[in-house]
Amino acid sequence: MRPNAHLARMLTHGSSPGMADKSMPNDPFGAGDDFVASFQIEDTSVRGRIARLGDGVLDPILKRHDYPRWAAHLLGEAVTLAVLISASLKFDGRVMVQAQGGGPIPLLVAEARSDGGVRGYLKLDKAKWDNLDRINKGQRPHIPQVLGAGVMALLLQPNDPEQAPWQSMVPIEGATLADCAQTWFAQSEQVPTRVRLTVAEISELGGTKRWRSGGALIQQVAGDVSRGETQEQWDNARHLFDTITDLELADPDLSSAELLLRLFHESGVRLEPPKVLSDKCTCSDEKLLTTLRAMPKDEIKTLADADGAITADCQFCGRLYRFPLDTI
Ligand SMILES: [Zn+2]
Repeated sequence: MRPNAHLARMLTHGSSPGMADKSMPNDPFGAGDDFVASFQIEDTSVRGRIARLGDGVLDPILKRHDYPRWAAHLLGEAVTLAVLISASLKFDGRVMVQAQGGGPIPLLVAEARSDGGVRGYLKLDKAKWDNLDRINKGQRPHIPQVLGAGVMALLLQPNDPEQAPWQSMVPIEGATLADCAQTWFAQSEQVPTRVRLTVAEISELGGTKRWRSGGALIQQVAGDVSRGETQEQWDNARHLFDTITDLELADPDLSSAELLLRLFHESGVRLEPPKVLSDKCTCSDEKLLTTLRAMPKDEIKTLADADGAITADCQFCGRLYRFPLDTI
């Protein structure tokens, strides 16, 4: 398969111009959450990205929807994956991770934008969900069981309508969404990539639970060293990366810098300034009105309630909209 030039124009493997900020402290992350950042393993051709989503992003998104536990985990992983990919966008726009199939979760959508905004939702067939063998045994289901025979699509959508979007799909295979993502990177970017995604519910004193996630990926990018050395560097990095535990990736008391240095302390890791993320939807009166006004008038009338108004709620953020017919 040949490398795709269009995709290469949309995603970067290097630092963005002006991204490095010499005034940043050595640990730009602190113990904080809700960011994504790139890193470079020193003196190697291995680059990576790390994201931690917590109280400001993942917790409100998942609590708003109140999905069953393992469904919430899957949406959390999809949102984290979208965030990891969004960190490499070369344009202003968004990344959407979308899975569609015939399973108990027929649709899952996660979006991360270049402005740091994040949102996501899924549809759930409760009867099918309750029939899942692994759910009834209290086990985590594999993704083909919950999503069905279908595809995972990744869409890169520039805000500029003049710029063409990019979409590619992979079959829903493997045990986890990270497995699916690795297949996508292998097919689309054709860069050796390892992906880890984890979602956890952190219990606090008093019984409160908070959702958080951790995600990381590393990629072997073209280096100026000889091919043999590049391969050895990649093999070493991959071996170390694969030792990350879910506990470490989601640990609220282990900063991302500490985690990366724990893994790659022999070579050293250069961290880049993080991009701050927010739980932010893009729905608006204006957008919904534009959609409604594009529909045939007769059809709009059939959607009106007894009071002569159209009501709709945003599937991402739950915001309720109501427009009297004479305003459309
Ligand atoms: Zn919304």
